[in-house]
Amino acid sequence: MQNQVSHTAEKLDIKSLREEFPILRQKVNGYPLAYFDNAATTQKPARVIDALSTYYLEYNANIHRGIHTLAEKATKAFENTRKSVQQFINAPESEEIIFTRGTTESINLVAATYGRMMLEKGDEIIISGLEHHSNIVPWQLLAGEKQATIRVIPVQEDGSLDLNAYAQLLSGKTKIVAVNHASNSLGTINPVRQIIKKAHDAGAVVMIDGAQAGAHIPIDVKSLDCDFYTSSAHKFYGPTGAGFLYGRRELLEKMPPYMGGGEMIKDVSFSGTTYNDIPYKFEAGTPNIADVVAMNEAISFINQYGKEHMAAYENELLAYAVERTQNLSGFRAVGTASEKVSILSFLIDGIHSYDIGQMLDARGVAVRTGHHCTQPLMDHFGIEGTVRASLAVYNTKEEIDQFAEGLERVIKFMK
Ligand code: PLP
Repeated sequence: MQNQVSHTAEKLDIKSLREEFPILRQKVNGYPLAYFDNAATTQKPARVIDALSTYYLEYNANIHRGIHTLAEKATKAFENTRKSVQQFINAPESEEIIFTRGTTESINLVAATYGRMMLEKGDEIIISGLEHHSNIVPWQLLAGEKQATIRVIPVQEDGSLDLNAYAQLLSGKTKIVAVNHASNSLGTINPVRQIIKKAHDAGAVVMIDGAQAGAHIPIDVKSLDCDFYTSSAHKFYGPTGAGFLYGRRELLEKMPPYMGGGEMIKDVSFSGTTYNDIPYKFEAGTPNIADVVAMNEAISFINQYGKEHMAAYENELLAYAVERTQNLSGFRAVGTASEKVSILSFLIDGIHSYDIGQMLDARGVAVRTGHHCTQPLMDHFGIEGTVRASLAVYNTKEEIDQFAEGLERVIKFMK
């Protein structure tokens, strides 16, 4: 297995891949930029940036209702992305892909439509202790409205979920299970196949928050037997403001619309309105055409290099980062589960994470500090936040050296 992993990583030419990212060529505070804030948002390859400007320079037009050349071209490009997303996550049909602003909007959409339609007083929603606020608060809003209860799968010491406890939480009252594919704070990859299977056995539907999976984990909604799946393009080398929601056809067809407006209707009269077919029923108004079109280039970037190869290389980078940091004085990794995406969350005894972040920035290293929008998880560990170095496929071992040397200096200076 080990050999196989390093073999696939060797297939990548990181030097030429990296050249696709103009932003990485700059210096920050006199040092080469080492961008380790990829869980917040990844950088964009030139092909994504070019797709945005080409759209506005050459064929900007509103989609779907136009018969002129530019409108047809824009519609085709927009709908091509839908087909690419379908293949990217192996969805059965392209009509099951809804474009949204991203993960947050997708989860809110499911909570406000499917959730509102299905939940009754006393029903239960299961989430996990690893969730981002955007996979907590929409369910709290729904639970408040419906007098439903939220149950939380506990997190173990290493940052993995307690699946025995999960099995105990499931019951006939469980209507929805919503968990992330990978944790943005700790990197833990959750056993979503098992989570989905158990939920289905209990009669519940499952929403997977794939915000952190888009760039790092091959996604196959068909094989996972997933009901809803979402991700945000900006976390997988695409533009901000665009993402997708996958939903199983029979659920999407039953669900009421999320927003009313143009595009989501078939016929409107003052005596009543009939809704459009899926996916358009959930795409009211003019969508974010340019960013959806450019998302296609992000998918083509990932497909060209191969997500498995990218993940194998990122695993090597993570292992190297752990090796370079674990013996530093006072260093404590937070989240050490065996299955992880390339995220290293940590603390250094006696030094505030904010100071670490600032001092690393002074040496060109961009990390994130704080609670990473997972306050309940931080509370669970009894900490305010962590320093998070989240790696992407364009990062290098040299950058990890720069980061580790930066940490050595922080420790020397602050202790
Ligand atoms: N879920 C997870 C696990 C995330 O990491 C994030 C963003 O950091 C989100 C949800 C929200 O994504 P967005 O802000 O793109 O809607």
